[in-house]
Amino acid sequence: METKRDFLKKLSLITVGGMMAGTVAPAVASAAEKKSAAAKKSIGLQIYSLGKELFDDVPGGMKKIAQIGYDHIELAGYREGKMGTYTLPEYRKIVEGEGLKITSSHVNPPINKFTAENKADVIEFWKRTVADHVILGTKTLVQPGMPSIESHDDTKLVCEIFNQAGEIAKAAGIKWGYHNHNMEFKRVLKPGEKPDTGPAAFFRPKGDVVYDLLLDGTDPSLVFFEMDVYWTVMGANDPLEYFEKYPTRFPVLHIKDRSVLGQSGMMNFANIFTKAYGNGLADYYVELEKVKTDMTQFEGVKQCYDYLNNSPFVK
Ligand code: MG
Repeated sequence: METKRDFLKKLSLITVGGMMAGTVAPAVASAAEKKSAAAKKSIGLQIYSLGKELFDDVPGGMKKIAQIGYDHIELAGYREGKMGTYTLPEYRKIVEGEGLKITSSHVNPPINKFTAENKADVIEFWKRTVADHVILGTKTLVQPGMPSIESHDDTKLVCEIFNQAGEIAKAAGIKWGYHNHNMEFKRVLKPGEKPDTGPAAFFRPKGDVVYDLLLDGTDPSLVFFEMDVYWTVMGANDPLEYFEKYPTRFPVLHIKDRSVLGQSGMMNFANIFTKAYGNGLADYYVELEKVKTDMTQFEGVKQCYDYLNNSPFVK
């Protein structure tokens, strides 16, 4: 009769044998690794959030971003064919060396007030910028700042240029998008419309919301909108109403709060994520403004990651 001792002895031999054969144990470990990799949330970071802390040490900073758990980044800081002091291939190599992917980039054209005269210069700028972003390997390229818009005519020209930028990017396999702050929710009067004064101006404001004019005036096959959900709320608007009205226009989001995500009480991220997923959300990026306490930006960015990673509404 086999004693317990014999049984354990056999078991240990089997285990050792399995390990020495180098087949069973590693196969099991690799399946477990795959399972944990599949379960990991894919959370993106807009690197503007780190400011000088990243700029001062890009290789060390990228390592820290990856260690926190982020797996892709949206750039800020591209300028005239370089990322800070690095050439684009150098920069990409550093990022990818840490297992991160560059998936997006924020770039503003050097001209803020578009006119019929400078339109060609803006288009030339986008041609160069798109070519450079092919080198960086991004899938999206985003204008984050609002051009000067004071009228319907201004909006029309901006939409024309956005569509053309989108066309240039599309030809290079990149999607071109626009990122908002709160000023896009101001209104411009319709042609011939006179402004109201007094309570009517507050309760029934005249004119059209600039953001709506941009959404309506651009070609959905050329221009997407990366909604910054915090700035939309700061513009006294509800991200969910926009997701409802324009379900296909917001494939990418900026997930931002007043400071560290989830701490202010201003943002209903559960509703935002649930609705956005329903519309087919492709990507989102954490963005953190300067933290007001004595914590570092890296600490703040880690707390934002932990918030999303621990939130059941984030897939
Ligand atoms: Mg933003």
